[in-house]
Amino acid sequence: MLKKLIVLPLLLMGLYFNTNAQRQPVDVKYYGVFLTLLEHIDKVVGVADVSVVFEDDVKNFRLDLHGPEKGDTGMTVGKVTEVRRKLSTGMMDSVVQLKVIPFKQDSKGVYLSVNARKGEKHTYRVEYMGIPKDGLIVSRNKFGNRTYFTDNWPDRAHYWLPCVDHPSDKAAVDINVLISDKYTVVANGLKVQDTLLKGNLRWVHYTEKAEIPTKVIAIGAAAFAVDHSADVDGVPVYSYVFPENKEQGFKDYGKAGEILRYFTKQIGPFPYEKLANIQSKTIYGGMENASAIFYAEESVGSKSIEELLAHEIAHQWFGDAVTETDWEHVWLSEGFATYMTLLYMEHKYGADTLIEELKDDRKKVIAFEKKRNTPIIDTTAEGNYTQLLNANSYQKGGWVLHMLRRQVGDSDFWKGIRAYFAAYSGRNANTTDFKAVMEKVTGRDLGDFFRQWLYTPGMPELTMRPGGETGTFIIKQQQEHLFSFPLEYTIDDDPMIRKVIIKDRITIINIRAHHTIHIDPKMNLLFKYGSNDL
Ligand SMILES: [Zn+2]
Repeated sequence: MLKKLIVLPLLLMGLYFNTNAQRQPVDVKYYGVFLTLLEHIDKVVGVADVSVVFEDDVKNFRLDLHGPEKGDTGMTVGKVTEVRRKLSTGMMDSVVQLKVIPFKQDSKGVYLSVNARKGEKHTYRVEYMGIPKDGLIVSRNKFGNRTYFTDNWPDRAHYWLPCVDHPSDKAAVDINVLISDKYTVVANGLKVQDTLLKGNLRWVHYTEKAEIPTKVIAIGAAAFAVDHSADVDGVPVYSYVFPENKEQGFKDYGKAGEILRYFTKQIGPFPYEKLANIQSKTIYGGMENASAIFYAEESVGSKSIEELLAHEIAHQWFGDAVTETDWEHVWLSEGFATYMTLLYMEHKYGADTLIEELKDDRKKVIAFEKKRNTPIIDTTAEGNYTQLLNANSYQKGGWVLHMLRRQVGDSDFWKGIRAYFAAYSGRNANTTDFKAVMEKVTGRDLGDFFRQWLYTPGMPELTMRPGGETGTFIIKQQQEHLFSFPLEYTIDDDPMIRKVIIKDRITIINIRAHHTIHIDPKMNLLFKYGSNDL
């Protein structure tokens, strides 16, 4: 995901409380959703089949769902039944009702009385309706036309869907939408049905068999112009833009094919059935919904559209297919998407572009550190995940991957990235899992590297001055925690890169007298050059 440059309204940020303070002893395997989206009122009528495997003996459990509020917003549950699905298509008429399930509802969820045993798998059908307070944005686009877009990050799916709203619980999804036939509907996965019904209605059904986290479940409905811009290794690539933006939109989003080709070659097979890039009403600059990426409506015509596309497309592998186990590991999404974008830009525009981008990112990390001096693995954001949309998760995370690449070399770096994706696609991973894969591939102990860059705040703050003896230079680490890293330098105008390992407070290097040292000429170290005297 990429932030817009504007600050989120405070009111909205206040909504991001942690709904998962108490994790439920269930593993959701499947959501079968049927939404009726109405034309003249914002009310949504929903039926959700939720298949769960119980991880313990339980009398009752909670599905997250934002309940009814004073006024019109919130979701009211009318009925819960246990059902058995007859077909795997998720069609709503293909279930057998087994029994009615007693339930209670409060502002945070719906509590089902189930008396289930550990290991059992059951499917519950929740019937509900209401005006979503958030998460499913029913509004008008900049051309004044009515649109419907889900916008779930970080845990806003439960405003419209009864679910376990946490990235660690991934599930396959069927999405059915009943809507006026003047809308085009796009959602995750493969479109298996698009049927016109009596009464100027349209029934559209998408199915995603790969397990995805709730944050990237997506439904969009609007008047769209649709372009099939490319096929990459059998994966069709589509652009969905508002018809008024058709010409520029197709041109801008049409850059996706080349990006998809690069990442597929570098990382591994694209994890989904299609890739759609969609102009939308997301509150973010871009939102990496699995196989149905949403972009801000102003993204069409934006100068940075190529980088935005690359960032969100990279997320399909990292964030969507391989999902962080919990929010403190969100750099596995955002740091990866940030650096994969730089790698694409380097591939397309050359090494100087990479250096310029890394320089910009380093400035952002240094500026952020002054405001908030926490490690990348930040466990202090509990309940307010928008705090994690910061330069630590994005730019510093990207820098860590850059330094890792330089440390292990391009060949082992990509081998590790491919192995990590192959091992965890469709699943969850944390930072330790990534480290273990990189260590196995490279045969190196990366303990110190991960500890200092991911679990320790800050970065090396270096000072340098001529030593007392002629021809020596003294390099000092000024920051509190000592780092260990290779420091590259050149002397005078000689382009030869020299390297010294810095690990102590003070390192002395010997060069001939009266020469000038340039440190880190190739932009390979995240550091500050301090002005303090030794
Ligand atoms: Zn992102």
